[in-house]
Amino acid sequence: MKQLIREVPDFPKPGINFYDITTLLKDSGGLKSVIGALEERYRSTPFDLVLGIEARGFIFAPAVAYALGKGFVPVRKPKKLPAATVQMEYALEYGTDTLEIHADAIQPGQRVLIVDDVLATGGTAAAVAKLVEKLGGTVASLGFVIELDFLAGREKLSGYDIHSLIHY
Ligand code: AMP
Repeated sequence: MKQLIREVPDFPKPGINFYDITTLLKDSGGLKSVIGALEERYRSTPFDLVLGIEARGFIFAPAVAYALGKGFVPVRKPKKLPAATVQMEYALEYGTDTLEIHADAIQPGQRVLIVDDVLATGGTAAAVAKLVEKLGGTVASLGFVIELDFLAGREKLSGYDIHSLIHY
C-alpha cells in the first residue's frame, strides 16, 4: 500500500510532507485492499455506527460501513449540516477549528467506530471522540489508513482502541 501513496513535500506549506491518498484510491487493487483490511480488522468488533470526518474521512468511512452492514454518520465543518447540531472546537497549530455533528446522529449507548485517512497530531480525532461522548455514545475504536508515528497522535487518544493500516 505504501507504494501507492504519493508523498508530496512542502504541501500545503513548507516543511510538511503530505501523504496523498488519491494515487491509492485510483488503483482498483489499492482501494480494495484498504477497505478490505479495515473490514477484516473490525469484523468481530461490536459497534453500531461508522463515523467519518470531512473531507477525506468521507472517502473511507462509508465504504467500511457498507462492507460491514452498518450506518454512516458524517462529522462536518461548521454550517454544513441542516438540522440541529452539536459543535466541538479544537486547537490547531495556529488558532482553532470547529467540527459539527447532528445532535440526533448518535443515540445514548451506541458504539461508534471513527474512521479517517490520517492520524497526525491527533487533535481532530480527539475532538471527534469528545463529540461522540457528548452525545452519550462510546468510541468502539478509531481506524486510520495512515498514522504518522513521529507526531505521537496516539498520546492525545490514550484509553481508546486505535488501529492504523500504514505507519510512517
Ligand atoms: P491531526 O488533527 O493533526 O491528527 O490531522 C488531522 C487531519 O489532517 C487528517 O485527517 C489528515 O486529513 C490531515 N493531515 C495532517 N497531516 C497530514 C499529512 N502529513 N499528510 C496528509 N494529511 C494530513
